[in-house]
Amino acid sequence: AKNKGGACFSFFSAEDDDLVEERLFLENDLRQAVDRHELLLHYQPQIDLESGRLVGVEALVRWQHGQRGMISPGAFIPLAEETGLIVPIGEWVLRAACIQGRKWQQSGMPPVRVAVNISTWQVRQPDFVDMVEGILDESGFDPQLLELEITESAVMDNVQEAVRILNIFQQRGISLAMDDFGTGYSSLSSLQRLPLSKLKIDRSFIREVTSNANDAALTSSVIALGRTMGLGVVAEGVETEEQLDFLQRMNCAQVQGFLFSKPLPANEVSTLFERSFVS
Ligand code: C2E
Ligand code: CA
Ligand code: CA
Ligand code: CA
Repeated sequence: AKNKGGACFSFFSAEDDDLVEERLFLENDLRQAVDRHELLLHYQPQIDLESGRLVGVEALVRWQHGQRGMISPGAFIPLAEETGLIVPIGEWVLRAACIQGRKWQQSGMPPVRVAVNISTWQVRQPDFVDMVEGILDESGFDPQLLELEITESAVMDNVQEAVRILNIFQQRGISLAMDDFGTGYSSLSSLQRLPLSKLKIDRSFIREVTSNANDAALTSSVIALGRTMGLGVVAEGVETEEQLDFLQRMNCAQVQGFLFSKPLPANEVSTLFERSFVS
């Protein structure tokens, strides 16, 4: 392990060496994951609290590694972000999600909105808008059913450019959600300039929303803010009835979490339309 003493130096031990090697292996494998068709998407239901029905799904990527089995995004998205591999991976994700969304549309199910996570790196690509347009054309997916989840960091360092890009999407009918809301540093004035349709309250606030007064206050403020700004609000990471109760009392519009469903393979999503998730 690293020297934890007060001195301003650190050194590599055998253990760190292993970590560096492990990282190189993983990076190399990740580089090939798209070509090897090792990535797949799961979809987590988003429930409208008023109707109790499924209204959307969030696409979440998984990596089916040849030797190591299923790797969760927490274990490779940070690496993909550091290496820029998130750009081709993110493009694959968007394409796969739009193709699946189109299949759902054609199968005669009620319309389901498909939300896709977009990383800061992707937003900064000069051809980002063309890439999204290209995938929409190619897949035939209805832009009205596509939602892009962006984070505060993706917009805050160049708000003007972000406003320009997001306006193009809005004109196309694509919805925009601010992901992990409350964990970043967006100012209210810049928030107001963005053509958002939704705020997603990060699950770190929902986790203790019934026991931690600060988290409860933040959550109810975001719900109120959403109402004032005319934005939808989704609470993520809802695991318990108590958390659901709280969110219902605060009139939160939508919820997502293990209490309703974990992320599922596409074929299992189609069975959920008939169901009522809230009694
Ligand atoms: P996120 O965007 O905040 O997505 C929600 C994460 O919370 C998902 O983890 C989901 O499985 C998990 N989750 C949902 N409900 C619950 C719950 O009730 N309790 C708990 N404890 N967790 C819950 P997942 O799939 O492991 O993804 C982790 C993160 O990886 C995502 O966080 C997102 O930031 C990133 N990610 C996943 N897929 C993509 C992708 O296609 N592109 C990009 N750029 N990032 C992705
Ligand atoms: Ca997300
Ligand atoms: Ca996130
Ligand atoms: Ca989150």
